[in-house]
Parts: sequence; structure tokens; C-alpha cells
Amino acid sequence: MMNSEPTKPFSVREIREQFPALKRLVYNKNLIYFDNGATSQKPQVVLDAINKYYSKDNANIHRGVHYMSQKATTEFEEARKIIQHYINARKSEEIIFTKGTTDGINLVANSFGSLLKAGDEILITAMEHHSNIVPWQMLCERKNLILKVAPINKKGELIIEDFDKLLSKNTKLVAVTHISNTLGTINPVKELAEKAHAVGAKILVDGAQSIQHKKIDVRDLNCDFFVFSGHKVFGPTGIGVLYGKEDLLDRMPPYQGGGDMIERVTFERTTYNELPFKFEAGTPHIAGGICLGEAVKFLSSLDINAIEKHEKELADYAQDMLDTFEGMRIIGEAKNKTSVVSFFVDGIHPFDIGTLLDKQGIAVRTGHHCTQPLMDFYKIPGTVRASFAFYNTREEIDKFIAAVDKSITLLK
Ligand SMILES: *Cc1c(COP(=O)(O)O)cnc(C)c1O
Repeated sequence: MMNSEPTKPFSVREIREQFPALKRLVYNKNLIYFDNGATSQKPQVVLDAINKYYSKDNANIHRGVHYMSQKATTEFEEARKIIQHYINARKSEEIIFTKGTTDGINLVANSFGSLLKAGDEILITAMEHHSNIVPWQMLCERKNLILKVAPINKKGELIIEDFDKLLSKNTKLVAVTHISNTLGTINPVKELAEKAHAVGAKILVDGAQSIQHKKIDVRDLNCDFFVFSGHKVFGPTGIGVLYGKEDLLDRMPPYQGGGDMIERVTFERTTYNELPFKFEAGTPHIAGGICLGEAVKFLSSLDINAIEKHEKELADYAQDMLDTFEGMRIIGEAKNKTSVVSFFVDGIHPFDIGTLLDKQGIAVRTGHHCTQPLMDFYKIPGTVRASFAFYNTREEIDKFIAAVDKSITLLK
């Protein structure tokens, strides 16, 4: 799948046809959905797969002798392979199904974290999502580790010289977002991975905002862990993926105990199952896994380079238009950014703009976007964030800009 060419040229109109939610009205207006950073809409193939699974194939997996259980198992394991190929992992055993990005990071913090010793350091950046901050704080408190935070400049770019200074032989893990959900900044994770490895540290990449926008090749990035959520990549909620290098996952203890993750249980001693099952205790989100496979299959049928270009054009266009308003502050002006435009207008609370946009049928997010330290850094209460997907259009941005204009006029 990895090397197969997309079957069709990129057409926004054709793509939109496949997303029923985009056709709905909100307050009697055509929906403009610019909240893709929070969650994406789902294509018909994913909706059909959910329905098909529960209406025809529903059975528990891995343990059943009967027809439906075996079919569900095959489809679930097939989905794992689809994801493996899409991100170019070496083996399907390196694909662990989780509940999502947050769950994946907590798994690594608990399991990999248990191998660390007092005084070891974890390095994150100032632009992380709360789910790539708090699990490390909890771990540091539990095990007396030290959390270091690499700063950013006002444009919202990681300051590489400072990152270099904070990195040392005490650093055991670098945990960094690939693309900032608030700023749109694209971090040079391949370069950061090299730097981490040079001091003997591992690197976890938070891919919650990158896999839906960019080609991901975990071997090329040479990251040790890569995590993402199904629901932001056109699949269901409650399912996600942790990719980890096999030798590393093999050395890590299980995160949770229960069914499916065991090889043999006695009251005296339990031995654990092999990868990936060692990290998948209990009945997983079977439909979620299968449908995430469908979503990734759908994504891989499209031209990801064309998607990247289209989304970058949308974000640049929106930012250039917004920049012309009086009192406008664009939050996040990194040279290398995509798909997100966050802004703050002097004297107006982001929530008020968001509410007025909503009344005009435009869905954006307002607030701190689970990045409160970033809001402190910019000394603002929050931003209005428009975040784009491949199904968004330039016409939608024109309507959005007119609506922002109207909202600001009303609020001034
Ligand atoms: C959304 C998001 C998360 C958390 O994802 P969940 O699906 O809520 O677990 C983590 N990091 C980034 C950058 C995100 O955008």
C-alpha cells in the first residue's frame, strides 16, 4: 500500500461528497467546519464499516473458535497491517491499539517510565498539548525524574539552540509534538530524533495533528514512539495507535493487566503475551480498530502531497486575510506551519467571536486548546482557532473572513 499510487487526482468537490456531515445545515446555514484540530468528520466508507461491523460481524476477537469471531479477528488484525504499511512500520507487532493519543502517551509514561531512575530527565517543548505534559509531570513526581521544557520564540518556533542546551546524557526521553494543535508549527522531528539519539535518549512524537496532514514514515523519522488518535484522522473516537520500535516495546513491561495480554496465568506467576497483545489488555475497541483501518485506507487512496499543498494554501490564505484586520494578532507565525490559524483580537474575548461565528454556521474552537502554558506565554486568555482539513475550500474561507469581520464590528 505504501508504494501504491493514489487512484485519483485530488478533487475537493469529490471528496466533500463522501462526508455526509458536511452537507448538513446549522441554524439553517450551510455548515462550515473549521474545527478539524479537535476532531475530523467521517467519510461514508467509515460510517458504512461501523454499521457493517455491528450489524453483521460483531463478535469478540482472539479467543473464539466460531466463524464470526474469526472474521472479526481477521479484520481487526488486517486493520493493524493497513496502519503498519501506511506509516511504514517494520512489523505489525509494532502497532499497538490504544484509546487515542492521550492513552498512548500514558502507556509510554507508565511502561517506559518504569525503566527510568531518579535524576533521569524528560525533555518536552513549550508548545505541547496537556496530554504530552501532564503524564510526564505525574511520572516525574512518582519517580523523582526531572522535566525540562525547551522554549519557543514569539513566532511559535522551537528554539533549537536552547533545545540543544537542555539535551544531555541525563535525558532519557524527548517527547515532542509533530505539529502544534494551537500554532500549526511543524517541528523538525527527524532532526530532533537525531539529536536525541546522539545523547542516548529516545524520542516520542505526538502525531495527533500530523498524520492527517503529512506523509508519515516512522522509519524515515527514526522516532522510537509515534502516537495518534483515530478520530482526528477521519476514524472513530475511542481508538488510536501507539507505534513503537519492536526492541524497545519488548523491553518494556505491560501497562495494564487483564485478559488477552497474558500467556499463562497462575496465582503464583503470570507470563505475558507477545507483542502487540502484551499492551492490549481486555477487549479492545474492535469496531474502532477495523474502522480506523478503513479511514487510513481512505486516506491512502488520496494524494497526500496534494492534500498538504491544498491545506497549506488554505491556511496561508486565511492568515493573510485575517492579518488585514485592525487589532488582529495571529498567534503562531512559524515559517514552517500548516492547517491551523489561531488569532486574538485586542479587546475582544475569543469566546465572543466564536459564539457569533457559530450563529453564522461556522464551527471554530475558542479557548486554550489544551495548551494553557502557551496562552500564558502569549499573555492571552485564549485564541479563536480555525483548523482545516482537505475537504475545506477557499470559498469557505471567504465566508469565514466576512463573518469574522461582521463579528468584530458587532463586538467593538
Ligand atoms: C488532540 C491532541 C492530543 C490528544 O488527543 P486525544 O484524542 O484527546 O487523546 C494530543 N496532542 C495533540 C497535539 C492533539 O492535537
